[in-house]
Amino acid sequence: MNQIRPRLPLPRLGEPYLLTPGPLTTSFRTKEAMLRDWGSWDGDFRAMTATMRARLLEMLGPARDGFDCVPMQGSGTFAVEAMLGSLTARGDKVLVLSNGAYGLRAARTLQQLGRDHVVLDKGDYLPPRGDEVADLLSRDPAISHVVAVHCETSSGILNPISEVADAVQAAGRKLLIDSMSAFGAIDLRPDEIPFEALVSSANKCIEGVPGFGFVIARKEALEQAVGNSSSLSLDLHDQWAHMEKTGQWRFTPPTHVVAAFLEALNQHHAEGGVAGRGARYAENRDTLVAGMRGLGLETLLRDRWLSPIIVTFFCPDDPKFAFDSFYARMKARNFIIYPGKLTVVDSFRIGCIGHMDAHVMRQVVDATGETLSEMGVTNTAPPEAAIRERSKLAA
Ligand SMILES: *Cc1c(COP(=O)(O)O)cnc(C)c1O
Repeated sequence: MNQIRPRLPLPRLGEPYLLTPGPLTTSFRTKEAMLRDWGSWDGDFRAMTATMRARLLEMLGPARDGFDCVPMQGSGTFAVEAMLGSLTARGDKVLVLSNGAYGLRAARTLQQLGRDHVVLDKGDYLPPRGDEVADLLSRDPAISHVVAVHCETSSGILNPISEVADAVQAAGRKLLIDSMSAFGAIDLRPDEIPFEALVSSANKCIEGVPGFGFVIARKEALEQAVGNSSSLSLDLHDQWAHMEKTGQWRFTPPTHVVAAFLEALNQHHAEGGVAGRGARYAENRDTLVAGMRGLGLETLLRDRWLSPIIVTFFCPDDPKFAFDSFYARMKARNFIIYPGKLTVVDSFRIGCIGHMDAHVMRQVVDATGETLSEMGVTNTAPPEAAIRERSKLAA
């Protein structure tokens, strides 16, 4: 990209950048939208809820008509649990495709809900492939639903959701997608990728503040979900039916968070929607990865699997390197980074999402270089074990 974007205004003077996958750095306008109170019953707030649901549905593209959007109070996990507990019935069987913490969390949720399930566990980051899914489904006709994670935020891998969706559709099963950290920046259109429902939340790629998640599901699935949930507060059907009838959330809505989210949606739209948002994040990632590789640091994933959401780097194989000290020194430079989640080798993560651009990512690279030399780290290459580990993943 040779066209340099104008600098994004600073979130707020002196506030650190959150290089984390949500909560993340939000714009001043988004924060400012929280400076008034709204009555949850009032028509103004009901209109805000309706607008928000419609704007989110628009992101599905032309095939959105058969879908509806149901917001749910709480963090993203609450919305995942609402989706899993409401859109599957007792007696259904679920295949979970796991390659990280969020896949494992979905499996644990199903366990807690008492839903029969099997897990395809690919470890820390290897992607579940379409042919594996097709094979598992053909061998187990009892499986009714498949759960996939779109971007597995724990490694930053962009899973091959399209081939997974094709395999699930070919086998006549239903796909539930945790698109928490991807929706709004990476296309997920039902005319291209067949799915039953997806889930995301306010504080990821739409760049809102935390406080609710939302499920976008086929209306048929929402209609049929009556009585599935064994939870009152996480009953997606009930929340949907109530919202359809009254325009209101069933219980106290996060009013300020919704106001901020609407402002964030305006900025998302002004940036060019999903394509514009995705392009900025991809530029952030490309700037970050090129700069860090220039310092001798290496990514866990090969280019083809790198999401524009968050990137995992191996810790340098140098006795002078310690994550805690690295973290504190980066924080002193106004950058909050994220620890790694790999079980085999040490790593750290840098998020590419939030109200940041390539100018900021260049500063992140500069801060990293300064910090490493301040710590006396001379060998920035990863240990042998990390390279061996990485060779498990095809190019
Ligand atoms: C952020 C995230 C979630 C939800 O996490 P919360 O901490 O409950 O908001 C779920 N799945 C993925 C892939 C995520 O990135």
